[in-house]
Amino acid sequence: MFGTLTDSFKTAINKIRFADDEKALKKALDNLKKSLLKADVHYKVVKDLIKSVELETKKDGIGKDNFLKSLKKNIFEILKISGSQGFVFSSRPPTTVLMAGLQGSGKTTTTVKLAYYLKLRKKKVLIAACDLQRLAAIEQLKQLCEQNELDLYFDEHEKNPKIISKNALKKAKEGLYDVLIVDTAGRLAIDDELMHELKDIKNTLIPDEIFYVADSLSGQDAVRSVSSFNEQLGITGVILSKYDGDSKGGVALGISKQTGVPLRFVGIGEKAADLELFIPERVVNRLMGEGDLATLAEKTSAIIDEKQAKKLTKKMKKGEFNFNDFLEQMESMKKLGSMKSLVGMIPGLSGMANQIKDMDLENSSEMKAMKAMISSMTKKEREHPSILNNSRKRRIAKGAGLSQMDVNRSIKQFQNAAKMAKKFSGKKGMQDLQGMMSAQGRGFPR
Ligand code: GDP
Repeated sequence: MFGTLTDSFKTAINKIRFADDEKALKKALDNLKKSLLKADVHYKVVKDLIKSVELETKKDGIGKDNFLKSLKKNIFEILKISGSQGFVFSSRPPTTVLMAGLQGSGKTTTTVKLAYYLKLRKKKVLIAACDLQRLAAIEQLKQLCEQNELDLYFDEHEKNPKIISKNALKKAKEGLYDVLIVDTAGRLAIDDELMHELKDIKNTLIPDEIFYVADSLSGQDAVRSVSSFNEQLGITGVILSKYDGDSKGGVALGISKQTGVPLRFVGIGEKAADLELFIPERVVNRLMGEGDLATLAEKTSAIIDEKQAKKLTKKMKKGEFNFNDFLEQMESMKKLGSMKSLVGMIPGLSGMANQIKDMDLENSSEMKAMKAMISSMTKKEREHPSILNNSRKRRIAKGAGLSQMDVNRSIKQFQNAAKMAKKFSGKKGMQDLQGMMSAQGRGFPR
């Protein structure tokens, strides 16, 4: 996330040195202006930013430190507008969220992502299927909820979304749910009928939040549709979807300032885990190439069970890491989201995120072979990898429909993973890892 924008800032920052003259400042600002416009940041937002940074840097003295200080402060001011940040829980559960957006914007997928995000944070979430316009919408929700073990309320016989939302709220209250998320109908364009339907649901639910899902690929059109929905419905937050496919990325920078509605989350992929919080303080750090350890820590602590992690570390140290542990680790990794987004949060490595081609670990041929192999093992073999002799390997290969070479390769991969796990599980291992990370952190030009 923010790879292109981060690169724009980095290039501009590199144009100016510690003690420098007006010419260098102008060059840096021109460069920044050009790349921000190219990234599709609205020209007025760019103009104001450049003007403020120029005035402030001149006032404080032209040089890298003042330039950086002013740039950071002004980006923060663009991102931070009044309104809530992140997900805010109502003091009287269930917190109700109405999801709105145009058809195809990613509204249904985002509803599931948000529910999954909250579920990982130990909240009880109910989704209500109130998109009755698109025939496949309920089916899509059913499948996604099943895949991600989420609760869904739907009623295929009821044609009035207002009544469905009312019954869903009743169910959420009775079932002591923490959050109710209501997926509503979208249209290809904003029309009176859609607005009327949404207002009806709004008046029934009196939701705590109305999130508008905007497709970042539609650029400045996304901004206009947010403004329009806000005028007619009153929205409390924007979620930008498909940000992973947006090579420009500038919409995220200007959208809050342009519409007066805070950007709350960003969708960065099609899977349930691909949703990220948008917290201005953290985003500024990321844009300045300083990483975002706060989000990384929050994300990992929500997913990793501390007790289980301790147990696993003990096992790793003793060299008892087995195939069951391996599968469990793979499942946890899946919940963390894409590798690209994780790397972008590590100080000094954010520049690298753009170069990483996102690998689909789960569907890679290696992973498929590994899973097939493990499923053909006996319980004893999974727990004690060392007993795998040639005759057992032959039997496993046959059972899994793999060649013996595939099995040998998968076992080798597992052994390497176990070796790495042992190395980094000790105190010295952690020190090595931290050393590696802080050395990388010094790599970014300041
Ligand atoms: P809706 O009509 O607004 O409910 O749209 P959907 O939720 O059905 O999404 C439309 C398409 O966009 C689907 O193929 C989704 O998988 C895809 N999509 C949604 N969000 C994202 C995202 O953040 N990144 C990517 N790459 N695709 C997304």
